[in-house]
Amino acid sequence: MTSITKSQNQIRLTADPHKPLSPAIYPTSVFLFENTAELIDFVEAKSPDRFEYARYGNPTRRAMEYVLAELEGAEDAVLCASGMAACTMPVLALLQSGDHLIFTSDSYLKTRTFIEKTLPGFGITTTIVEPDVQAVEAAIRPETKLVFTEMPTNPLYRVIDLEGLTSLCRKRGLISMIDSTLASPVNLNPIHHGADLVVHSMTKYFAGQNDLIAGGVAGRKDLVSQVRDRIGELGAILPAQECYRLYMSTKTMPLRVERQNATTLALAEYLEGHARIRKVYHPMLASNVDAEQARRYLRGGGCLFTIDIDGGFDQMRAFCDATKVFRIGPSFGSPESLLDPPVIMSHWNVAPEQRAAMGITDSMVRISVGLEDVNELKADLDQALQKAF
Ligand SMILES: *Cc1c(COP(=O)(O)O)cnc(C)c1O
Repeated sequence: MTSITKSQNQIRLTADPHKPLSPAIYPTSVFLFENTAELIDFVEAKSPDRFEYARYGNPTRRAMEYVLAELEGAEDAVLCASGMAACTMPVLALLQSGDHLIFTSDSYLKTRTFIEKTLPGFGITTTIVEPDVQAVEAAIRPETKLVFTEMPTNPLYRVIDLEGLTSLCRKRGLISMIDSTLASPVNLNPIHHGADLVVHSMTKYFAGQNDLIAGGVAGRKDLVSQVRDRIGELGAILPAQECYRLYMSTKTMPLRVERQNATTLALAEYLEGHARIRKVYHPMLASNVDAEQARRYLRGGGCLFTIDIDGGFDQMRAFCDATKVFRIGPSFGSPESLLDPPVIMSHWNVAPEQRAAMGITDSMVRISVGLEDVNELKADLDQALQKAF
């Protein structure tokens, strides 16, 4: 298991004469140069480890970038303002008008909106296919540049054959980019399986407390460098204060994720046998269509699972309204357990026919499991399911 202790040794905090264990926060927009010779060295070296202006980087952010790179086994990493910036900046940095992108279904809806509604305006076209290597291969065109997928997906937890995908990409000269937010580096390191870029909404497991929004991109140095330039140009930066907070919360991420892996799997297994449940979706359950790939690539299933209640819209609402520990809210990876009914939350603006085609029903609830006691959570789900009928 990757430990953040290892990465702390790699961070260049030893350059700080005070040798702090936690990184210093630099509340400055400007970094000075002693003389013109120093300035010339800087512009010639173009190193992300020397700073000029905080939109291009600052030492606190750089410290956290080393942590992300280390946790993902990447050559380099860059932080940005949000998970959405982490998903969009690489596309805007690496693709140009005329290029083609392959994206997979059961995806984060805002990413899909960016790809379907915004990118065509830039002359970039996309084919959206099932998270399946053969489907990706069939969609490759001469102008295809990038394959972008999520692992696992949500709310249905598809898991693509990652090594099949990355070797296909390498063979055909395509960049592979994995949104690994749901896995976290605790459960998966896509780069170890050949991926070029990994993106994270660090709002989730890294922040771990629903208190900030942040994103990160890790991977090949040449690609990350282009993404860093585009972030500096478009201005989607993460302030030093937020980088510090992210750094501190990441120290406990492995503990939190391991606990959430265990509690979530226990709840999913419990509800799979429940009389009021039609179906349970969780990456590691044998009933998952991609269970074999999930067990091959993921060290744990994470904190999310989805239930389809054996009733309709009204029972789904009654269930959500009857829980006492679980509360209604988006996001995941926090200490508090949360419920997200896709039909009235994430997928509210999706037409009913399209929702059905995506496999989303009126009776589904995505459950984000926190750090509470497993028996307390089990009892709450059970009493809410009894009350719903
Ligand atoms: C939350 C999320 C995002 C967007 O991240 P923000 O930090 O909210 O901008 C992107 N992809 C996935 C898979 C997510 O869960």
